[in-house]
Amino acid sequence: MSAELIDGKAVAARVRQEVSEGVAALVAHGGRAPGLATVLVGDDPASEVYVRNKRRACVAAGMVDFHQRLPADVTQQQVEDVLDQLAEDPEVSGILLQLPLPGHLDAGTLVDRIPPDKDVDGLTTGNVGRLALSRPGLRPCTPAGIERLLDEYGVGLAGAKAVVVGRSVLVGRPMAQLLLARDATVTLCHSRTKDLAAHAREADVLIVAAGVPGLVGPEAVRPGATVIDVGIHRDEAGLRGDVRFSEVRAIAGLLTPVPGGVGPMTIAMLLANTLRAARDTGTRHGY
Ligand code: NAD
Repeated sequence: MSAELIDGKAVAARVRQEVSEGVAALVAHGGRAPGLATVLVGDDPASEVYVRNKRRACVAAGMVDFHQRLPADVTQQQVEDVLDQLAEDPEVSGILLQLPLPGHLDAGTLVDRIPPDKDVDGLTTGNVGRLALSRPGLRPCTPAGIERLLDEYGVGLAGAKAVVVGRSVLVGRPMAQLLLARDATVTLCHSRTKDLAAHAREADVLIVAAGVPGLVGPEAVRPGATVIDVGIHRDEAGLRGDVRFSEVRAIAGLLTPVPGGVGPMTIAMLLANTLRAARDTGTRHGY
């Protein structure tokens, strides 16, 4: 048996098309085009690439790009002032503070400066709380993208046994909450979990976000299971994930490749969140 591959590029292209159409419809009905404000502090090369890609995608979807670049030695107060201005600006629908921040800044306090309704990364205490309480809110982009992939490929979640490997605030925890909200029976594994493979083998849906190259092999996969690989690592051979692709492909039912699986969904869901934020604030302002 060889797993069917989940084509994240194709699904992400569909989401981006839907967002472009949604933006066009919003403008056609007299609303203003959604605006995404990316805030980049310092000059970390990886963050620069991520922010550039997000800005390009936002413009390609018909949204307005409000970029703010701040020097690495900016003070906490200065970043707070920038976030407060963006929070008040009616043309800015979504605010994204690119992480990680330089060590002298308090990231948690700064993220919480973003109003939950403009928090397109879904990382403020307000949105994390809404997710935990199963209330509507903006969801973190990578887990939301995975949920969309599972839906697109018809993976049933109600009553399914789901195992998430990794408990980060960005991926693992919100993923577990989203799966729970969809009535899966969820196990959340992490670096202190004993016998990871024994837990993972129980999974109908196995989501691996540990950041450890090749952590999950066939010994940790139930035949026919759906396996989602969130990890991204660059080595001499190119990009690879947390899952040993060719070995797991031989026994899984559905599998995401790296690259071309989860990765493209993250930016697509950021755009979807920005459109949603624009619609919600537009509704409040009576557009
Ligand atoms: P993180 O380092 O913040 O968290 C990793 C988690 O994995 C931790 O909770 C830790 O307890 C757990 N873990 C570590 N070693 C483990 C082990 N041996 N067994 C079980 N659990 C273990 O990482 P993150 O931000 O959640 O990202 C995880 C991976 O996903 C990274 O490779 C990252 O680059 C990638 N990522 C990809 C996307 C995307 O868009 N595709 C988005 C975010 C993160």
